[in-house]
Amino acid sequence: MKIYEKILDIAKRRGIFYPSCEIYGGISGFYDYGAIGTRIKKNVEDLIRKAYLVEEYGNFTCSEIECPTLSIDSVWNASGHVKSFSDFTVECMACKEPFRADHLVEENLKISCDGMSAEQLTELIKNNNLKCKKCGGELNDVYNYNLMFRTEIAPGKNKRTGYMRPETAQSTYIAFKRLWEISRKKLPFGILQIGHSYRNEISPRQYIIRLREFTQAEMEFFIDPDDKYEYLNLKDDAAIKIMDKDDKISEISIKESHEQGIIKNKAIAYFLQKSVNLFVRMGINYQKLQLRQHKDSERAFYSKDTWDVEFMSELGRIEIVGVADRGNYDLTQHQNCSGESMEIFWNNKRFVPNVIEVAYGIDRPVYCIVESCYVEEMSKKGDERVYFKFPPEISPYVCVFPLMAKDGLPEKAGEVVDVLKRANLYVFYDKSGSIGRRYARADEIGVSYALTIDYDTLKDNTVTVRFRDTKEQRRVKIDELEKVVK
Ligand SMILES: [Zn+2]
Repeated sequence: MKIYEKILDIAKRRGIFYPSCEIYGGISGFYDYGAIGTRIKKNVEDLIRKAYLVEEYGNFTCSEIECPTLSIDSVWNASGHVKSFSDFTVECMACKEPFRADHLVEENLKISCDGMSAEQLTELIKNNNLKCKKCGGELNDVYNYNLMFRTEIAPGKNKRTGYMRPETAQSTYIAFKRLWEISRKKLPFGILQIGHSYRNEISPRQYIIRLREFTQAEMEFFIDPDDKYEYLNLKDDAAIKIMDKDDKISEISIKESHEQGIIKNKAIAYFLQKSVNLFVRMGINYQKLQLRQHKDSERAFYSKDTWDVEFMSELGRIEIVGVADRGNYDLTQHQNCSGESMEIFWNNKRFVPNVIEVAYGIDRPVYCIVESCYVEEMSKKGDERVYFKFPPEISPYVCVFPLMAKDGLPEKAGEVVDVLKRANLYVFYDKSGSIGRRYARADEIGVSYALTIDYDTLKDNTVTVRFRDTKEQRRVKIDELEKVVK
């Protein structure tokens, strides 16, 4: 069994994540988070929230908003998604299986299809006699398949075409004028939005890496185009693999790469550094992270520069955040299409602000955390221990175990549960089975601390705190539990 297969087995069995609609045969691109996975995912979201809303305080103001996931066609016409948010698709005429046309050509002919049209791809498929990967059947002509889910809002004369948002960013942009007023008309400011987005992918695979409905956290940083970012400080950090748009690789710190002009824009360097630190804090393996600049051909025409943080996983390369200088393209588009001015007056000039966008996936980091934290250990006696080394900030909850289900121990454990609940901690209580077995079950889902209530607890009000990674056990007074656990 490969590592990721073992991880997926635990994920399904213990309720981290599993396919949606299982009883109806499932539908690719949709996953449920179970009781454990939901806690982990919320912890990831909270870390991002805290990193921008709390920890940036003093550098710049960042606030969170929440917008609907469905909006009218005008928004997506202006943003360009109706016209060009699509993938080249080709179908088998015999078995009807759809494929990404550019991927199919790239795999078969070992060439790059960057910038090719549907006609060029069709010609390559015909001339090279490429066939269906599934049944060997003939393929039809390549066409553009829009990746947005389209729907109708309201009946009769009120009917409007609507689209499920393919990104959170546009819903932030269209509210810019109001956000500017609320921010008391000062630049820079950041707006964070965490929520679901939808992309009707042609054939999503790879579990929660490519989903049709997924969660994003996007921070739009509105700035004066002349901003020199004196309020953002790059830290001295460890070296990381950095790949520029010409495939030149350096292994230096992010700070150095900015000083050497590789990551030219200081705000981009800052948010890349912040993101890498955030991922490490979540438990993602630093050694497997790299930075990659988008090539000229893959970058949107209006974007001045775009960088991704990627995780080299067992499943291949996974992009977990993208940081892009989007100029003032989006705001200008919405200004032109809505007729509503997006200009502001700031620093003695009138202009449409620029935006640096920091776009996190949430589901992808969850997978990267799970893969990074997976540990298989063999004891000297030859017993295998399998667990997730989640950091306490990611760990789903604290476990409370009475040693025995008698002699007043469960009642005493109930008191400990109350203490933890009052401290706003998520608790899982279990009184059945041997204590070793309960520890093993807690380890398997990455619980950082398990608390055991035994006969000494009744005498001196202390409990045993067991640390997952070291298996170390320490007596702690119930009064001090909150401090120790937090
Ligand atoms: Zn076929």
